[in-house]
Amino acid sequence: MHVTVTGATGLVGSRLVQRLLARGDQVTVLSRDAERARQALGAVEAHAWDPTAGPPPAVAIEGRDAIVNLAGETVNQRWSDEAKARIRDSRVETTRQLVAAIAAIDDPSARPGTLVNGSASGYYGDTGEAEVREDQPPASDDFLAEMAAAWEAQAHTAAGLGLRVAIVRTGLVLAAHGGALPVIAKPLRSGLGGWIGNGRQYVPWIHLDDEVGLQLAALDHPTFEGPVNAAAPEAVTNKAFTKAIGRVIHRPVLVPAPAFALRAALGERAQLVTDSSRMVPGRAAELGYVFAHPRLDEALEDLLG
Ligand code: NDP
Repeated sequence: MHVTVTGATGLVGSRLVQRLLARGDQVTVLSRDAERARQALGAVEAHAWDPTAGPPPAVAIEGRDAIVNLAGETVNQRWSDEAKARIRDSRVETTRQLVAAIAAIDDPSARPGTLVNGSASGYYGDTGEAEVREDQPPASDDFLAEMAAAWEAQAHTAAGLGLRVAIVRTGLVLAAHGGALPVIAKPLRSGLGGWIGNGRQYVPWIHLDDEVGLQLAALDHPTFEGPVNAAAPEAVTNKAFTKAIGRVIHRPVLVPAPAFALRAALGERAQLVTDSSRMVPGRAAELGYVFAHPRLDEALEDLLG
């Protein structure tokens, strides 16, 4: 299979590219900095693309079997109005440009057959203790939810061009290097930090291997369409999650970090850690996907042990 990947230089995309190359697939990468992408990713064809300037070059899209679209500016920054606009556009407008490039290919047989698009657990908003499956509607009045819904809606427009569109709604991706886990573990290693607020909010965690495993399963499946929740089967609260990290790094976790202090420090962005999402991988079975790391303790041992 020949796959074009956006966001390929990121935490998830770079592991996806490794896995595609390891199984003998060909990879084309679209990056704002093609040279850096080539250096970081090795045996890939890399093309420069500034999504704010228009659609990607046809040479990176035409004749490919599939596209995996993961590009997006980090949400882990201060949410000024300008930053929110950039965060949103880097997903929604980027996807619009990508679909425009596919539409511009005159010969339908030269269009990619599949689009696997990113999305996030933020789609559902703060859903308390209820299990959340893929048929749950998006939250309203919530920046992350509105953005995820708009991102998915753009991706779905590719279905009108004949593509099979699968959406991977991702929870908190846990990796040994990069992403949230090292940032959460660092203060705990120094005996600082703790669970957040009352710790009862659910954390929709997933091991990086399973995040990429689900993306590959969505790529490979001949008919799967629509969303799949990318969260491990074992649902845990923030308190259980934090204590599990403490166990693996052999540090007791005894005190909470007050939610009001986080809200004061982070503003609206605090919802990233205070919202509850008991997202379960309801449709992963339809993909025939078997989790490599279904249990939190084992996943953390693998990543931090
Ligand atoms: P990263 O932040 O590690 O990488 C995202 C990539 O997107 C970058 O490598 C970059 O590629 C590209 N990018 C960054 N800013 C912009 C911009 N302003 N415009 C266009 N492209 C940009 O993300 P992850 O790998 O962690 O996540 C991949 C996707 O999955 C993201 O869209 C994210 O929202 C989603 N996700 C991730 C979660 C996680 O826990 N990691 C949780 C939920 C969803 P380049 O510089 O090569 O152009």
